[in-house]
Amino acid sequence: MTHEIWKELISRHVDGETTPEEERQLHNHLATCSECRDFQEDLKQLRPAIREAAVLDLGPSFVVTVNERLREEESRIDSWIAVERLARNTVMGLAFTVAVVLAVMASMRSREANAPEPTILTASNDSTAARVLLEHEELTKGDVLLAVVTK
Ligand SMILES: [Zn+2]
Repeated sequence: MTHEIWKELISRHVDGETTPEEERQLHNHLATCSECRDFQEDLKQLRPAIREAAVLDLGPSFVVTVNERLREEESRIDSWIAVERLARNTVMGLAFTVAVVLAVMASMRSREANAPEPTILTASNDSTAARVLLEHEELTKGDVLLAVVTK
């Protein structure tokens, strides 16, 4: 075995991840190899510091970052659900509005066709009263539309 492999084994030994057999082999090697003994000493002193640094790095800021990512993801999903709902409501609302407007227009047309001419219109064709009546009718159509849209 080369020193690189021993060093890898020492690293795992310091982390407490070696098997009893590996421990035995390592113990025998360290008895004959000062370089690996030094490496193990260095590592034993370094490891806690490295672990501490890692904990600090992954510590509060890591948790906050993950939470922020999750919240961003959730709000993005929420906004998409809202957009979807809005789109569906808008389409349904528009369909409903069109249906109502068509129904209103159809009933108005049939009423115009069946009902006798309003007396005020036959009395004077271009009177102010007729214009007021027509304007009033326009207004009621608008009112119906407005009522449906704002519903
Ligand atoms: Zn060695």
